[in-house]
Amino acid sequence: MMNLQINWVKGSILTTGISIAVGVAAASAQTQTAAANFAPDNPFYAPSSLPFQAPPFDKIKDSDYQPAIDAGMALQIHEVEAIADSSTPPTFDNTIVALERTGLLLTRVWSAFNCVTGANTNDDLQKVQDYEAPRLAAHQDAIYLNSKLFARVKAIYDERVSLHLDPESLHLVEYDYQQFVKAGANLSEADKAKLKKLNEEEATLENTFMNRLLAAAKSGAFSTTDVKVLAGLSDAQIAAAAQAAQARKQQGWLLPLQNTTQQPDLAFLTDRATRQAIFENSWNRAEHGDANDTRAVIARLAQLRAEKAVLLGFPNYAAWNLTDQMAKTPEAAKRFLDALVPASTARAAGEAKDIQALIDSQQGGFKVEPWDWEFYSEQVRKAKYDLDQSEIKPYFELNNVLENGVFYAAHELYGLTFKERKDIPVYQQDVRVFEVFDADSKPLALWYCDYFKRDNKNGGAWMDVLVNQSKLLGQLPVVFNVANFEKPAPGQPALLSFDDVTTMFHEFGHGLHGMFANTVYPSLSGTQVARDFVEFPSQFNEHWASYPAVFQHYARHYKTGAPMPAELAAKIEKSKTFNQGYDFTEILAASELDLEWHTLPTSAPLQNPDTFEVEALKRTHLDLSYVPPRYRSSYFLHIWANGYAAGYYAYSWSEMLDDDAFQWFLDHGGMTRANGDRFRQMVLSRGNTEDLEKMYDAWLGGPPSIEPMLKFRGLKGN
Ligand SMILES: [Zn+2]
Repeated sequence: MMNLQINWVKGSILTTGISIAVGVAAASAQTQTAAANFAPDNPFYAPSSLPFQAPPFDKIKDSDYQPAIDAGMALQIHEVEAIADSSTPPTFDNTIVALERTGLLLTRVWSAFNCVTGANTNDDLQKVQDYEAPRLAAHQDAIYLNSKLFARVKAIYDERVSLHLDPESLHLVEYDYQQFVKAGANLSEADKAKLKKLNEEEATLENTFMNRLLAAAKSGAFSTTDVKVLAGLSDAQIAAAAQAAQARKQQGWLLPLQNTTQQPDLAFLTDRATRQAIFENSWNRAEHGDANDTRAVIARLAQLRAEKAVLLGFPNYAAWNLTDQMAKTPEAAKRFLDALVPASTARAAGEAKDIQALIDSQQGGFKVEPWDWEFYSEQVRKAKYDLDQSEIKPYFELNNVLENGVFYAAHELYGLTFKERKDIPVYQQDVRVFEVFDADSKPLALWYCDYFKRDNKNGGAWMDVLVNQSKLLGQLPVVFNVANFEKPAPGQPALLSFDDVTTMFHEFGHGLHGMFANTVYPSLSGTQVARDFVEFPSQFNEHWASYPAVFQHYARHYKTGAPMPAELAAKIEKSKTFNQGYDFTEILAASELDLEWHTLPTSAPLQNPDTFEVEALKRTHLDLSYVPPRYRSSYFLHIWANGYAAGYYAYSWSEMLDDDAFQWFLDHGGMTRANGDRFRQMVLSRGNTEDLEKMYDAWLGGPPSIEPMLKFRGLKGN
């Protein structure tokens, strides 16, 4: 996973689900009053004097953030207005470059704030976040909808060819212009007002969707007072179910609903009627015709987004939203997905056959249904691929994986070396800091890792940036990785699963994308790339975890130093392709549904979500009775309220890139410095400084292929 950070205007992750329109005047007046509390004793007042401008976490108090954020917004509005209101004719330097120099205080404080609210939060910080997140969104809107500023940006854009700019500067002009236009800066005042109305309605509907879905999921939990129907669950799972019931002051046992269509407990429940009941609770969670039904909301959301697109000059919402993505058009994204369907559904059909044979061999006497899949595939998995974690984990001790795996691969590929720095202040005692040195021994970056689970940390794993690389601002990168590994008892080693090991390589891959950034302008630097590209460097780095020369270097028993036995390593490798027909088909179905909804023309009538979904799955050849989409339209949170509208395909798109790129390495001598340096020079260091499709094609020598992805997923050959 990856959080996107702010620069001078980009909203991205921060504004996900929150899109509150506030007028320019209102936002700047508010921030100016609040900023009055900002004084020189605030640690954010001046740039940090620590190495790499690392945040002085030893001096920052929780109460320092809000005044600094408010002052940062007020200052940036002031800076932007000075550019917009200037009487000097617009030039590249006095407008485009000047914009890059605005908001430095805001970026400084927000980066640190974002880090602690994600990884080490508390009630006070949460309060500040709830208060500031919508204000930041409004702040960014205020900049984009400043018509005098846009007029200057447009003037430079219109004459860009005659300015003889270097490629990165030219790309910045085009990028800025595109972002303004995407936000509606090009519209007449009357159309801007219409857009604002549509945006407000969209924000309200997204919020309604989220609230209804939350309530629907809650009431979709499976509860029972007869423990016998839960046969198959472990004692720990039963105890957790009893606790979940108690937490809701209910008798008996309760299994809460997960976000996805399939529910993990279905793998263990032996009672078929229970499985069916749980599955149907999941599938119909938001379609009961009650107050939690989301269907009317999504039908209107789809229609409204189409109206918005037309207003902005596009045939449909996806066409508008994909303009700044690597795929660029919904047609390209659709072609990509369509091409994956045959191999994926064929493999799923094969898996269904195996499962049916297993059902028949046990005299089941029924045809496999979605609620049977997990239960029987778990039996296949146990028989063929079972991995005993207690056997595996002793070979994956955290420090060893870090130094002899993650760091080792980065050394072999890119020549990097690492030295722990105990003198850099951290926001929590488990955080470690490393200085990263380039092949020529020059300092490259600071890298923090915060690996252990805490109650006040968000779930999952992510990378983010504390200081963005920029030659214009004279900044070297400071990046961090966060995960949620089990913390060992004092004096005990931290032993990881192979999933955890993969997570370390993944987040470090984002880290490399940030640390190798070598760009002039901060808003084009590092990981600030399109959503369908951002997971490429991280997923690419995962491949090295299983690369034999790396794996053998780190997968060693923590007590004896003995390498992992070959049979065990082979088992891990083989288990990767298990159930991939099902897993990938359900993702493809969700991705296609997303694009079908968001390519509706504005002339289309309000849709009936049930018939729309059935027909969309039929049209895309994904109407398999035993593989329902990973999310049904009525509970597809990503696309209706989490900022992934017309963007769910991006997960698979990035996967195509990382598999294709890794295959290129395999075909060109594998893990060599020459290959690593070339990849760094042509891709990892480039951020968003050029068209991503051209960047990729130039590095590879042609467009990406889906064949390696099908191979690594086990959907072809084998
Ligand atoms: Zn990621």
